[in-house]
Amino acid sequence: MSLKIPKEKPDNLCLAPFIMTRPDVRGWNSPCPFGAGDWPHAHLNASEQWDAKELNNLRQKHLNNEQASECKRCFTEEEIGKPSLRKRMLEQYKHTDIYEDFIKSEKFLQGPKVIVYRSSNVCNLACRSCGAHDSNQFDPEGREYLDLYGDGGPFISKFPPTHVPMAEWIPISENIERLEFFGGEPLLNITQFDILQYLVDQGRAKDITLMYNSNATNKPTDRLKELWKHFKGIDISLSIDGIESRFEYLRYPGKWEVLLDVVDDLNNMNLGIPTKIFGNMTMSMQNILNIDEIMEWQNETFGQYPWIGFAEGPKFMNIRNFAPHVKEQILQIVERDDIRNYLQLPAMSEDGYELFLIWMKRMDEYRGQSFADTFPQLYGIIEKDFKRQIII
Ligand code: SF4
Repeated sequence: MSLKIPKEKPDNLCLAPFIMTRPDVRGWNSPCPFGAGDWPHAHLNASEQWDAKELNNLRQKHLNNEQASECKRCFTEEEIGKPSLRKRMLEQYKHTDIYEDFIKSEKFLQGPKVIVYRSSNVCNLACRSCGAHDSNQFDPEGREYLDLYGDGGPFISKFPPTHVPMAEWIPISENIERLEFFGGEPLLNITQFDILQYLVDQGRAKDITLMYNSNATNKPTDRLKELWKHFKGIDISLSIDGIESRFEYLRYPGKWEVLLDVVDDLNNMNLGIPTKIFGNMTMSMQNILNIDEIMEWQNETFGQYPWIGFAEGPKFMNIRNFAPHVKEQILQIVERDDIRNYLQLPAMSEDGYELFLIWMKRMDEYRGQSFADTFPQLYGIIEKDFKRQIII
């Protein structure tokens, strides 16, 4: 399909469909980590995915200056005054003429600049904001829920533990400047060695930056560190949405002591290449009132405040889905504008709050944890609802 590319860069343009691809274990094709499109393209190889009709349609929508429906998340974030991924990407490339040199020149047809590998569904954790689609740790728990309640939630595996065959993206790696690894847990991924070794052997590693988004409970192996040393630089972003018992609740069965040891190990790596270790956090129904302690701990530990991402799914984690009477009370406490604005957006699901109450109870029971003890301030607000909700 040939695209109609306007002379001037459209205001609503996103670079992602032209510079990025995000392979995942289910073969869902998307240009970005937000999963825009998520077209089921397991039957297509990497080159075919990059030239897929649906992706070209999305490119054309951006070139037509439309706010594509696939990109609702970015445009919603922009509405509430949060820098969206689209805007952050434009900012990142503002010192280059990427529209002229890469898009109008049609150089993008040879392949992306960035591959964001959603590397596997293998993980050592079963975080409250996750499900069996991204971690193979949930399945026994999901089956127990199915037995007990007739409902396994998003916790029963539909796929066996699988790693994305990363080397299959080599045919479209001509333009690659950056590789990103998301999970599952990317430090447990075994197929990354194929693509990393290929780039080292080709002498291209020195021009390529790496980025990992890790759950902060795994140390990189010596083999991995040896490969990393050949690259231009590495960024490691650690997902830490709570501290101490809040971390252990949200990122079960992770242990805070293990996290401290891993952070120490990463901070003391001597790779001989520019290395940045920093944190990110997912804002969810559980930790909304604990934001300050997370921000301050991360600032003290990494020297910078974390990037805050709002959990869109599962629906029982999205703060937009709190009942109005709960939102009202939270708004009296939370001060940050981005959180206040997001909280006040209309609910995305009518039963999200009820499901939150149900699943927190079921999971507390199975995991031997206590929402009330771990998040006492929020529990004080929802106590009546929590007690009313019977888990059947
Ligand atoms: S606008 Fe946002 S959601 Fe759409 S492709 Fe760009 S980064 Fe992804």
